[in-house]
Parts: sequence; structure tokens; C-alpha cells
Amino acid sequence: MTSPEYTDYLFAPGITSLAITGSDQRFPARRVYCVGRNYADHAREMGHDPDREPPFFFTKHPDSLMPSGSEFPYPPGSEDVHHEIELVVAIGQGGVDIPVERALEHVYGYAVGLDMTRRDLQAQAKKMGRPWAVAKAFDHAAPCSALRPAAQIGHPIEGRIWLDINGRTCQEGDLSAQIWSVPEVIAYLSRLFVLAPGDLVMTGTPAGVGPVQRGDKLSGGIQGIGTLEITVS
Ligand code: MN
Repeated sequence: MTSPEYTDYLFAPGITSLAITGSDQRFPARRVYCVGRNYADHAREMGHDPDREPPFFFTKHPDSLMPSGSEFPYPPGSEDVHHEIELVVAIGQGGVDIPVERALEHVYGYAVGLDMTRRDLQAQAKKMGRPWAVAKAFDHAAPCSALRPAAQIGHPIEGRIWLDINGRTCQEGDLSAQIWSVPEVIAYLSRLFVLAPGDLVMTGTPAGVGPVQRGDKLSGGIQGIGTLEITVS
């Protein structure tokens, strides 16, 4: 399809984008994929055996991305909203059936994200064999820091990942503890979907997930990548 002029649209199309550290340009978000249970200690805390079963994926809507410094409005329909601090991978070059050993060539950069989760609705969905959309893909469910280009920082395979609430550390882990590495995640995902520039992948959370309350200040980060702060309102 040829690109229509903006005046051809009934209303202005929304484009969600992420800031890029050290650049005036922005990264337009296309899709947001998420990996479930990618740290053994978190799999265990959720009652699962952290065996190396194939990774599984769910999605969030790109327009649920929110920059660091935002207020996170406590979402309706839940009384148990959890934080999950995660490494976010930004795809700069698309592809299908990407081999593991070439996967990092497809990465533009990295960010720090929060996979906000309506845990009560997720538990209900699991029990009833229903999809996770209402638990994971609600409005504002994907706070995300500015991107750090791999051209600047390389491809981190280790580094502390943490989340503090009101100054108290709740989640703490290391990227090296991921069950499926970033190249492996990209390879798997590219066998299921056509990856394209603008795609983001949230790569799972370490142990220590828990509820947030209105007024909480969440402050997290990943060594060598950046920090992310939101306030629950
Ligand atoms: Mn997650």
C-alpha cells in the first residue's frame, strides 16, 4: 500500500514512540511482545517448575507505552496490580527465522521497562483457561525508559536489574540469570511472527514481584542501560 497523505485519514493516526538517549530522533513503536517466566526465581515464586520449556509470549498494545517520569493511573477492574521490572529489546532490523547467532544484528538498542500486570485477573484467566489480554494489555501497562542504542553500549549479557518502591528494594536480579537469552528469544519469536523495525520485546522479570498502591514511587533500572521512574496515581 502506498503511503497516504495525512489529510486522507479520518483522524490523526497515533504513533507511540520512545526517546533515544543522546539523539533528537525517536523510535516509533510497532508491536510489544513479552516473554513469560524467563528467570527461574520468578517462575518458582509463581508456582512453576523453571525447567527450560520453550519460551512463551504474550503482547501489549504499543499505545500503552509511557515514558519515565509519568504517573501510572491505577487501572480499573483490579485490586492487585503488580510490578515486573524487565529488560526491553528494541528491534531495528526485521526478519523471519532469524538464527540465534545472527539475532543481535537485529537489535537497535535496549531500555528498562515495567510489565504492569493485573495479577488477580491473570490468576482468574489461568484458572479458566482464558487469554491474558485483560491482565497484561491494559492502558498504561508498559512504562519504558529511553532507549540506549547498542551502537553506544553494546549488547549487555549481565548486569544488575532492580526495582525499588518508596526507596525499598523489592526486585533484584541479574540479566545473566535469564533462562532464554536475548538472541534465543529473538530467534524463537521470529519463527512465530514477522519481526519488523519498531518491535519491542520485554524479556521477563526476576523474583520479587508484588502489588503497587496509589502514591507509590517506583524506581528501577538495569546496570549499563538506564533507569525508569513512575508514580502510581
Ligand atoms: Mn513480565
